[in-house]
Amino acid sequence: MDETKILKEFADLQSEIREDKIKIELDPVVSQFVDQLFEQDGWACYFHIIANCLGKGSLVYYSNTGLKEDKIVELLARSFSEGSGIFADILSKYLEQSKVSTPLDFFQNFVDQGALKLMSECLEYCSVCDQVRIIEVKNREDECPNCSAKLFHIMQASLPEAVRAAISNGQLLEIYVKKCLQKAGFRVISKTVNGAQVSTSIPYSVYAIDVEIDVGAVEKSSLFIFECKTGKLVPSEVAQKLAQLKLLIDTINRRINGLPDLHVIFVVLGEIDKNVEPRTYETAFADLNLKSCQLIPANQVAGLVSHLLKLKTKV
Ligand SMILES: [Zn+2]
Repeated sequence: MDETKILKEFADLQSEIREDKIKIELDPVVSQFVDQLFEQDGWACYFHIIANCLGKGSLVYYSNTGLKEDKIVELLARSFSEGSGIFADILSKYLEQSKVSTPLDFFQNFVDQGALKLMSECLEYCSVCDQVRIIEVKNREDECPNCSAKLFHIMQASLPEAVRAAISNGQLLEIYVKKCLQKAGFRVISKTVNGAQVSTSIPYSVYAIDVEIDVGAVEKSSLFIFECKTGKLVPSEVAQKLAQLKLLIDTINRRINGLPDLHVIFVVLGEIDKNVEPRTYETAFADLNLKSCQLIPANQVAGLVSHLLKLKTKV
C-alpha cells in the first residue's frame, strides 16, 4: 500500500475539525511561540514558568541581566518596609520565577518575535545609585544617566490569548510534532479548510463516532500516528487510544482490504507511569499490523526531528 492510497483513505473519513482548533493551528503567534520555545535548551523550565502563569492570569517576569538573589531579597525587604507594594509585587514574582537554572533573559526573544506581549511598565534598579523605580519600557536605557552603571530591569510580559488556548487544550505540542514531521520530510496528513492546510486534532468518522488523531503522517507504506500528552501518561489512556485506533484501522481494512504498517508514538511532556509498557501493546494489537508502539519522553522532545529522521530510514 503506498502513501497516496493511505492519504486518500484518511481524507475520505475525515469529519469537521473544531473551529477553535483550526484557529489555533493557523495563528502565526502560536506558530512563532512553538518555534521559540522548543529551539531552546532548558525549554522545559520556560514551559513550566509559562504554564504556571496560565491559571492565575499572571505575567511572565524576566530581567535583562543577572542580579544576585540576596540582592533581590534585600530590595524586596526594603520595598516592604517602605510600603512600595508595586516594587514588592514585581520583585517577589520575579524571584519566584528566577529560581530555575536557565537565564530568564531568554524571554526577551519571545517578546521580540511577538510570542509574548510586553507590558508598558518595568522595574529599574541602579546598584550604584541604589535607586529602584518603575519606568515606561519604551524609555528604558542600558546605562544609568547619573553614574553610567549598567541598569537592571525586570520586564513583565503576558501570553497572547491564542497561545494561552493552545497550552490549555494541549495543541501546542501537536503543532510542534507537526512541524518536526515536516522538517523530517514526512507527508503529514492534513485537511484543507478554507484553502489552508490543517494537520492537528483531525477527527475521523468511523462506526458513527469520531476518532480524533493528534497528528498523523505517512512514509512509503507506513502510517505514523502521534498522540501528544502535556500531562501524565497512564496505561489506561494508551489502551483506550489503541482501542479507538482499532476502529479506524478496521474501517480502512474493510474498505481497501489491506493495512499500512502502523507505528503509534506517544509524545509526553509529563510523567510516564512506570506501568506503561509499549511492547505489550505491540503484541495485543498485532492484528492492526502495529509494527511499533513508542514513547518519546520530555527529555527527548527537543531532539524529535533527528529521531524522526532515523525512523524514516527504517521503513
Ligand atoms: Zn546610577
